[in-house]
Amino acid sequence: MIKAEAYGHGLIKTAKALESENPKFFGVANAGEAHLLFGAGIKIAPYILGATLPCEREEIAVRGWTPCLCSLEEMKHFDALGSNQPISAHLALDTGMGRGGFLPHQIEGALETLKRCQGIQLTGIGSHLPVADEDPVFTQDQFSRFDQSVDRILQDLETVPDDFSVHLSNSAGLLNFHSRTTNLVRPGLMLYGISPIPEYQDKLQPAMTLKTRISLIHELPKGHGVSYGRTLLSRDTRAAVLGIGYGDGYPRALSDRGTDVLIHGTRCPLIGRVMMDQIIIDVTDLKNCAPGDEAILFGEDLLASELAQKSGTISWEILAQITPRVARRYS
Ligand SMILES: *Cc1c(COP(=O)(O)O)cnc(C)c1O
Repeated sequence: MIKAEAYGHGLIKTAKALESENPKFFGVANAGEAHLLFGAGIKIAPYILGATLPCEREEIAVRGWTPCLCSLEEMKHFDALGSNQPISAHLALDTGMGRGGFLPHQIEGALETLKRCQGIQLTGIGSHLPVADEDPVFTQDQFSRFDQSVDRILQDLETVPDDFSVHLSNSAGLLNFHSRTTNLVRPGLMLYGISPIPEYQDKLQPAMTLKTRISLIHELPKGHGVSYGRTLLSRDTRAAVLGIGYGDGYPRALSDRGTDVLIHGTRCPLIGRVMMDQIIIDVTDLKNCAPGDEAILFGEDLLASELAQKSGTISWEILAQITPRVARRYS
């Protein structure tokens, strides 16, 4: 899954880094992202994860990208577009996500329609997990319902291509559940070294480190205000100003939540509100730091998931919302 600029890591660079692993597909959100891969000469086939807009479908058909069929309307349109060259597509099943795909009682009708669609070659079946990291009882049941539907569909199809894809799991599904019918998985978050399930974090290594530098260090007296809203200092404070803010995707919601920043490996508390371009850190207890020194906002020793928890969001959003202003450096 390399949608959303590969979870903020950079779409093309990430696609190039992963290309040699020879994945069956690169999962993208829409035709726009598939188009960027195409433009960069990426050879791995894009798989489009969600329902498509009518205006996107012609390019999908022409380029031979793989959509998932989420409705009869989509099916019929792709059928028409594939009249010369059949379009390879997957059937989306709704097993609980509610964002597109056929419900169990609609599968039969979908298959009947598909049989009349000479413009579509069915090359896979997929579904998505809404609570694989939250509700094991529901998810376990979802796996068995999915497997049963896949059995039914495979029985119904006259021929099943050798490389037919069956897929259900995101990262959390892959880590904690097993399906007897799937032969593909769709990991996203864990690909970037963050586990949706904390127990597995020590098996992964975060790919992204968000860093900035100290731009200024100054002494402020007890009682002085810091940042917008004037958070008042409870002691004489040596404050470091860092060149990062919510304009870079560092969440403003981290203001006054007891968040730390790593400077020379030491946790230093954020004080006052996160501004658009800057934050202020208390470095009173840190002896050797100077303007120009590096500060780490998240990475291996201070996980994006910790920031997510403190700011009331999820790790996915912390990664995906890092803005283009932040230079991406790859090693
Ligand atoms: C984003 C997405 C994934 C990846 O989910 P992670 O939790 O990041 O592993 C998998 N499948 C679909 C359909 C998605 O939209």
